[in-house]
Amino acid sequence: MKKRCVVVLGATGSIGQSAAKVARDIPDRMEIVGMSANRNLDKLAELAGEFPDAKFCITDPKSAAIFRGSEVPVKLLSGEDGLVELATLPEADLVLIAIVGTGGLRPALAAIEAGKDIAVASKEILVMAGEAVMEAARRKGVKVLPVDSEHNAIFQCLEGRDSRDVKRLILTASGGPFRKMPADQLAHVTPEQALKHPTWNMGAKITIDSATLFNKGLEMIEARWLFDVEMARVDVIVHPQSIVHSMVEFVDGSVLAQLSHSDMCFPIQYAVTWPERVPNTLRPLDFAQLAKLDFEAPRTADFPALDLARRAGETGGTLPAVMNAANEIAVEAFLQNKIAFPKIWQTVAAVMDAHQPVAHAGLDVILRADSEARTHAAKLIG
Ligand code: NDP
Repeated sequence: MKKRCVVVLGATGSIGQSAAKVARDIPDRMEIVGMSANRNLDKLAELAGEFPDAKFCITDPKSAAIFRGSEVPVKLLSGEDGLVELATLPEADLVLIAIVGTGGLRPALAAIEAGKDIAVASKEILVMAGEAVMEAARRKGVKVLPVDSEHNAIFQCLEGRDSRDVKRLILTASGGPFRKMPADQLAHVTPEQALKHPTWNMGAKITIDSATLFNKGLEMIEARWLFDVEMARVDVIVHPQSIVHSMVEFVDGSVLAQLSHSDMCFPIQYAVTWPERVPNTLRPLDFAQLAKLDFEAPRTADFPALDLARRAGETGGTLPAVMNAANEIAVEAFLQNKIAFPKIWQTVAAVMDAHQPVAHAGLDVILRADSEARTHAAKLIG
């Protein structure tokens, strides 16, 4: 099979770093032809040194101006239009969307329109506009390859099988750093404690989402769109070791699971080489050392994010975008020590309660709902 030419949007982040690692590991199969950053110029300069033939884009205009002055010799685009140009580079055949938040939506849609396959790490874009993204991909005949480890696991278990064969998709959750913490202590946790994920090393936003379980909530909605199943067939089970990345229970009662160490290089590589499998240098599983794998029910009463996400996913329309937007604002406020930990889901619930959902909303309506939810959440936070 030929080498895939990949654009990495969000190259300076945690997923971006793993993507660069995969490109180093399987150079015959993956070439990075484009990379984007927002503000991390040091990391970008490092990447520019390592991938001198790639095109680069800096989204933040001030950072782009500073970088232009630094005279690092690269082909540089800037701003949101630059991001779209990067996502539609003629030489690219796969665009990896790894921008935190919803900034990846416009370039993702542009890549699809340009006939590129997309590999999606940014779950927020499928939560916000899953219907529109999947519909556009179907219309253009391009693949949407899941990079989130849970969805990549389900994708591997399904192997193209029809969603009618599926009884349940079972997403695994580590449970986060407060899995065992009594509910009355959750009001006192600090951002530092919440940023200490027990099994994964990730960016700040997703790490806080893992602690509230909003990450799993977002993933439930992401799964609904990626695999065309209704929310009632999406379940969550806590699995603290993060070795089983998710499971599919089929209508005949058989359950298939995908396992590996918790390293995002596994799902990124599979998205790049799919449908083929290619040897690499990643650490293999040693079952004798693992000894045991635990599973337990999530504490939905103490961590309301899962029920909020189920409600958003079942209602559909603009409500998932509203939930996601309010959560982004609340997480940022928590990270800045402006609100207590439980205020994250309290803010999201209040913004969702006040919203009048619009069914099958077009992109403009979704973007307006997103923006209003941000304003409302910011007002509630004060
Ligand atoms: P990071 O915070 O580590 O990286 C985010 C990336 O997005 C950086 O390259 C950052 O640029 C860029 N960025 C931030 N804001 C903007 C913006 N407004 N416009 C353009 N680019 C922007 O996040 P992660 O890598 O952890 O996560 C990325 C996405 O992947 C998220 O949606 C997350 O939910 C998802 N994901 C992550 C996993 C992980 O293991 N980390 C696992 C599964 C999914 P800069 O740094 O230059 O400012």
